[in-house]
Amino acid sequence: MWGRLFGVVYELKNRDLAKLRRELRSADSDLIAILARRDRLVRKIGKLKKRLNLAVVDPAIEKVAIDSFIASAAEVGVDESYARRLISLVVGRSVEIQRRGRRRVTGRDSMLKQLSEMMLKAERKGRRLIRLDIGEPRFRTPRAVIREAKRYFDRTPMMLYGSSAGLPALLDAIAQRLNRQYGTKLGRSNILIFPGGRFAIFASILTTLSSLDRVAICQPAWPAYESCATFAGGRILAVPTRLEDHWDIDLTALEETLRLGPKMIVLNSPNNPTGKVLSSNMFDEIMELARKYRTVVLSDEVYATYSSVPVQSVLEHLDTESIYVNSFSKEFSMTGWRVAYAVAHEQRIARMRRIVETSLTSVPEVIQRAALAALKDTSADAVTGRSSIRKRLNMACEELSRGGFEFHPPEGGFYVFPRMRRKGIDSEKFAKYLFDKYAVGVLPGTVFGEYPDFLRLAITEPEAAVRTGIRRIVKAMNEW
Ligand code: PMP
Repeated sequence: MWGRLFGVVYELKNRDLAKLRRELRSADSDLIAILARRDRLVRKIGKLKKRLNLAVVDPAIEKVAIDSFIASAAEVGVDESYARRLISLVVGRSVEIQRRGRRRVTGRDSMLKQLSEMMLKAERKGRRLIRLDIGEPRFRTPRAVIREAKRYFDRTPMMLYGSSAGLPALLDAIAQRLNRQYGTKLGRSNILIFPGGRFAIFASILTTLSSLDRVAICQPAWPAYESCATFAGGRILAVPTRLEDHWDIDLTALEETLRLGPKMIVLNSPNNPTGKVLSSNMFDEIMELARKYRTVVLSDEVYATYSSVPVQSVLEHLDTESIYVNSFSKEFSMTGWRVAYAVAHEQRIARMRRIVETSLTSVPEVIQRAALAALKDTSADAVTGRSSIRKRLNMACEELSRGGFEFHPPEGGFYVFPRMRRKGIDSEKFAKYLFDKYAVGVLPGTVFGEYPDFLRLAITEPEAAVRTGIRRIVKAMNEW
């Protein structure tokens, strides 16, 4: 008898389950109908935006949509992280629909890579170019670095995997150097070694931004910040600066941007491409705003040793949540060696380390030993190399002034970012013309933001080549 009773109860429960499943399927088809309605609305909005010549994404409006979605979710008891995943999917779909039929915009970083590839290809075919486009110091890597790499291979029968954190001796040397310079108390757990500053920036951004999070980027800017943020699904809030303001950051505009709640702000002083070094006051004010709005500061300081004025570091502001990035590429003319480091709070470093572990295992030991030799080098090799570049930069500025170009005299770095004399000129076309007719490589201002009448010149070629290159630019400008 008990058996039959159980059988009946089981049968009833089974029927309940089947009924609930039917209801769930009906809820799912409601969901699909709502999504289809949403797609139709998005298409209409997309058409209107196109007609009004508006961008597909407006981060401020997107923020309102996300906030209201999450608030509605909270009202009906849907938890925030689930709501965030859903809205990310839905907004991604809106962008996908609205981008259809629009001209594909090449990312600034891809534009830079395409131009470099074009120059390299021409050089491989034997064309002699003056490369004012390339961001490499091009003085001899210090002899101590090469010696150490050779010694390593002579002594080491096999190079093994290393720790994903980096070589302890290198971490210690970096910590000592920074502690001495900035009075910090950094230890190994605050530092991580990367194969290049670009990777350190990539990991910093990837561990800070989730899909649809915003990042404030002061422009003009090296385009890698934007491409790393876009890769992470983030949204860019550009904070443009102007030559007329000596490339100073407008603090009111910055605060307005920070009100939109970006997770991160990117600073780069000395700046690529303008050579601007932020004054100590300006740096302090930015740090204060970052604290007020709880924004993480990513400070890219790879050009710190190329400066004619004192350079502030984010490491002097330990009360601000920050990531410091530096590289051996520029300081020691080691671009091709691929070695750099990030400094941050140890929990943040641990998160970044997971990226290194997952994707790379470790930076080759020989490279890290060579980097250590660079830090310990007491010869004048790197200092001489850098000061020769400074001299060329001064000479380049004189040539540009003589040619009637307008620019902010760079306080740091090895770039100059002049404005072309013709109003409404297209820097991309002009750069192509310079390459085709005058065999001079430069980068158009549009690689660094909305700067179509600017050019970026990297002053790293020998003095005579720089002079000839700039004279050709002046000539081309006169005939344009
Ligand atoms: N930051 C800036 C501003 C740069 O210009 C560059 C290189 N062009 C880097 C970082 C990264 O250099 P690397 O990856 O060689 O360390």
